[in-house]
Amino acid sequence: MKKRFSSLSEIRDQVSSAKIALPEIVDYYLSRIQQFNHLNAFLEVYADEARSAAVHIQQKMEQGKAGLLAGMVIAIKDNIVYKGHSSTASSKILKGFESLFSATVIERLLAEDVIIIGRTNCDEFAMGASNENSGFGPVLNAQDETRVPGGSSGGSAVAVQADMCLASLGSDTGGSIRQPAAFTGLYGIYPTYGVVSRWGLIAFASSFDQIGPFTSSVSDMSLLLNIITGVDEHDATMYRKPSLNIQLKKEQKPLRIAYIKDCIEHAGLDPHIKNSTEAFIAELKQKGHQVEGIAFPYLDQMVPCYQVLTTAEASSNLSRFSGLAYGYRSPGAKDLETTFKRSRTEGFGAEVKRRIMLGTFVLSSDYYDAYYTKAQKVRQLIRQKTFDIFKDYDVIVTPTTSTVAFKIGEKSSNPVAMYLADLYTVQANLAGIPALSIPYGTHPENGLPIGMQLMGNSFNEELLLNLANAFV
Ligand code: GLN
Repeated sequence: MKKRFSSLSEIRDQVSSAKIALPEIVDYYLSRIQQFNHLNAFLEVYADEARSAAVHIQQKMEQGKAGLLAGMVIAIKDNIVYKGHSSTASSKILKGFESLFSATVIERLLAEDVIIIGRTNCDEFAMGASNENSGFGPVLNAQDETRVPGGSSGGSAVAVQADMCLASLGSDTGGSIRQPAAFTGLYGIYPTYGVVSRWGLIAFASSFDQIGPFTSSVSDMSLLLNIITGVDEHDATMYRKPSLNIQLKKEQKPLRIAYIKDCIEHAGLDPHIKNSTEAFIAELKQKGHQVEGIAFPYLDQMVPCYQVLTTAEASSNLSRFSGLAYGYRSPGAKDLETTFKRSRTEGFGAEVKRRIMLGTFVLSSDYYDAYYTKAQKVRQLIRQKTFDIFKDYDVIVTPTTSTVAFKIGEKSSNPVAMYLADLYTVQANLAGIPALSIPYGTHPENGLPIGMQLMGNSFNEELLLNLANAFV
């Protein structure tokens, strides 16, 4: 889809040469939001706030006092809290909930003069791969409205895809940024676990969750990561490291790149995506990189392991939504038990309930060792095997997804088919390593975008982005 601006540097050039002023840019995005309202990407638009921020930041730009991200208009996923604004994680159980504080990422972006234009629809509590699990209706893919945009950060993806803002934030627990990025032709990254603060991210599975951006350019991805990363005392699971300092370079040294043969030979992979992956590998070789196929024996164990661990963590994280302190309370609540029972029964959607029950089951004393402990061991094996690969290689390549954006309703009645949409993405979350999805061509039958995934060793975001930049 043709976009008016595809990077912050374009906006900055035009604003500094007085071709356009920031308030006009905000008005442009607001008009796009109105025009594409039916895609259901936004749950709330902060039109007045965005307009007045634009006036203020325009002045700062003219005075040469503006922050590093002045001119950037972004949307945020509805599970990232913003002081004085509603956040619901697209769940009825949090309808009307307003946060008393802002997520660290929000504070850091605002400090650099980002304009937040609204909050975006997603799968309820980020559980899903199609955005069909939202408590507020599905999001439509802007390129083909009969198809899903991917999930769970589908609204954040479509907001950028349909040019309703320049960039957006999503969250990724098992692919929720990369898969919708692939389905909408964008860049999307899962940063190294522990480099982005989770303070203010409504938790799904805490040992997997990370916030990350969606962008139309590698340069904006780098700029945003440089701002949102870096230690935050509010999040004890972070690395004690300063922000990333990603620099995009013109020249690139040859890299050792592995592709996972089991992924490319997997029966579920669309043959055209397989062809694109092979073309991508050929292009990498042609650019002077050493590329080799390797085996990864745990492909079939990854999604089950991910499901056991994330549902276990979710069942614990979501116990706080009880109808007592905040959020939805059932009108039928009469005593403590009916308050919990009815509020949770009525407030949560089907998929969230399914996962809470599964997670409670795998943590129950009779089954703890058989499922939870075992999955922890499998996670350790997957991590180990992944880090072993990085002893010999700099980057691991796979397709991001095994299909292009699928039809609305195609997988929604079959949870197992839906979970398999995460086949290639969960490895990065299980190992905690950075993974970037980049747009790479389109499907010959339907013209839908295809994404390639580049995984790197911990903290190697700069390497991944530079590799991606060579394909721009
Ligand atoms: N699709 C995956 C799931 O349903 C990933 C979700 C996510 O990354 N938040 O769990």
